[in-house]
Amino acid sequence: MANRQIRLLGDPILRERCPAVEQIDDEIRRLIQDLKDTMYEADGIGLAAPQIGVRRRVFVYDVREDEHAAGVLINPRITESEGTVRESEGCLSIPDLTEVVERAARVVVEGLDEEGRALRLEADGLLSRCVQHESDHLDGILFFDRVSPLKRKMLLAKWAKSEHGANSA
Ligand code: ZN
Repeated sequence: MANRQIRLLGDPILRERCPAVEQIDDEIRRLIQDLKDTMYEADGIGLAAPQIGVRRRVFVYDVREDEHAAGVLINPRITESEGTVRESEGCLSIPDLTEVVERAARVVVEGLDEEGRALRLEADGLLSRCVQHESDHLDGILFFDRVSPLKRKMLLAKWAKSEHGANSA
């Protein structure tokens, strides 16, 4: 069991495209455990590998409120998306900032589970938003890349003035 430090905006790894996982070995299993531990410690609903400094296409999620039941997606691909919905969104790598982001209302995501079995997940609501947000992380995309240039500028100005932003600059 290990919590890892969450990388913050300004860390270049958050802007990289992560390579696919080719083999689910002990290293990947340890990564998955660390992602879960770190996500729960930070009280998040999703966490992607680059957020703890690992370039791999893996994320964990748990949108349940009552009990812990983390899901894992390895090499995820969003294969269907439908509708649009606008909701407020935040990110553990950009603490304290939230903004309304437009996302697909419903998605189908396909990938592998932690045993390497093919997984197909149909998601709507919060889970759909979470899956899209975490998939973006694997391509170096952050939520504020999906808002208007003006809103992005305002968010970045706010970040630069925040405690975290000032420290990570
Ligand atoms: Zn995030």
